[in-house]
Amino acid sequence: MALIFESKECARCGGTGRHSYNQIDGNRCFGCGGAGEKVTKRGQAAQTHYIDKLVISVNDLEVGMRVIDSGDRYTVASIVIENAHCTKVYSVSNNLYVYSVIESVRRIPTKEERLVLIKDSLAFQSTLTKAGAVSKRSNNKGAK
Ligand SMILES: [Zn+2]
Repeated sequence: MALIFESKECARCGGTGRHSYNQIDGNRCFGCGGAGEKVTKRGQAAQTHYIDKLVISVNDLEVGMRVIDSGDRYTVASIVIENAHCTKVYSVSNNLYVYSVIESVRRIPTKEERLVLIKDSLAFQSTLTKAGAVSKRSNNKGAK
């Protein structure tokens, strides 16, 4: 995810995204994954808030929903509830995903939905303390 939420320059690489060479990452800084910046605690909490809104129970899946499953993005074509322990979800490209009823999946929001969610999560972010905790003072507008 691009750094939508509050971020700061990566202290490890000083914002360059590069660090000393190693065989696995080359010279990409592993503090920030090469981005040069990383989300703050407050930004992290807002990001979690954003993602939480997209996580739904397998029982709430609907045909047409877009889902991300361990890096795989797919659109739900059909849902077959086999029994209490097995729900089969077929994607439009005819891949099969099998879930148990207690599992959760992460939806991919529509463009419009995403904008609303980001706005909501940024508003949430502004209520947090620097440590990413919900501020106790209700009149705190969130210092930048
Ligand atoms: Zn870095």
